[in-house]
Amino acid sequence: MNARVRRDFERIHGHAPEGVWAAPGRVNLIGEHTDYNDGFALPMALPQTAVLVARRRADGLLRLHSAQGDGRTTTLRVADLAPGTVSGWARYPAGVVWALRERGMPVGGADLHLDSAVPTGAGLSSSAALECAVAVAYGDLYGLGLRRPELARVAQYAENAFAGVPCGIMDQMASVCCAEGSALHLDSRTLEVRQVPFDLAGHGLRLLVLDTRVAHDLADGAYAALRAGCERAARLLGLPALRDLAEAELPGALGRLPAELVPLVRHVVTENARVGRAVEQLAAGQPSALGPLLTAGHASLRDDYGVSCPETDLAVESAVAAGALGARMTGGGFGGSVIALVRAEGAGAVAEAVTAAFTAAGYRAPAVLEAVPSAGARRIG
Ligand code: ADP
Ligand code: MG
Repeated sequence: MNARVRRDFERIHGHAPEGVWAAPGRVNLIGEHTDYNDGFALPMALPQTAVLVARRRADGLLRLHSAQGDGRTTTLRVADLAPGTVSGWARYPAGVVWALRERGMPVGGADLHLDSAVPTGAGLSSSAALECAVAVAYGDLYGLGLRRPELARVAQYAENAFAGVPCGIMDQMASVCCAEGSALHLDSRTLEVRQVPFDLAGHGLRLLVLDTRVAHDLADGAYAALRAGCERAARLLGLPALRDLAEAELPGALGRLPAELVPLVRHVVTENARVGRAVEQLAAGQPSALGPLLTAGHASLRDDYGVSCPETDLAVESAVAAGALGARMTGGGFGGSVIALVRAEGAGAVAEAVTAAFTAAGYRAPAVLEAVPSAGARRIG
């Protein structure tokens, strides 16, 4: 891999790179739509990474190429970068360079070549993988001394303010902070993280990722509206964020809210509580106990938060009917991927059952991947 991407870089950019970095995609085990409520999540990194080959330039140019792009190299002047000036995929890496400069970091140009194995638009955070690879590479090349959560903030700021996508912090924190063999207990308010050992194989378990290969257009507008609804609910309750509402206080609080905000608040508060329970189960060495929490989380996203869709619902139902211990959509919703926790010996039957259910419903067959808790962003060459 390393030798090949270095050769590709030399062919594209005409000289040798200074190094190679990799940043993973992620699945979120539990804790969905909680990050922008200052809440908790439990993501883990995928083995699939965005690999970035890089070399600094002294002339202030940023030259961007992706093996998954249209074959062209995009050339930008770092000093001219501003929100709205770059379109297409280049706005993610360019946004990271812009965001570093906005933070007063002394960074200049570079030649970059990207080659990513993270499926794009599947809810597995290919965008964060790409941003975080650039952030970590720039941190090393320019000796910035930024800590990992700061790199994640820079990457999130790039996606929000430069690429124009209003995402929370979970995807970027997962990509930079995850560790092999563990899930990441994330506090989105403080950016404190704790590695929670997640030994699937040792417990005879596997975690399947069923990519429905659909992405419904609703996603952008709906995300902003949900976020605004959560912020309004917190204001009405006199709280800094919905994270500050405990599960025990929920019944009283719901009575003080307009009807349309009740299901949103119920999802966020119960979802934060599910993250706490999931962490307890993992700490107790009971990963199979995650199953019912996953399925309950999906029901909450479907019935209260309204972000599932027929394809993800069918994947969850057919996986559970075929013996999965639990399943849920992962990522923002309106399509994307479903995770299913299965006993190792039942994995094939679950994948086949979901595929058969999709065929019967007239949907395209899902792509099946396996999630193994993997390392966060790092230099690999
Ligand atoms: P997700 O992050 O869930 O995969 P997004 O819509 O947030 O979905 O990000 C997908 C976008 O990220 C793509 O449309 C593309 O612009 C960019 N992207 C991701 N991976 C690559 C890549 N390997 N090459 C070029 N662009 C990429
Ligand atoms: Mg994304």
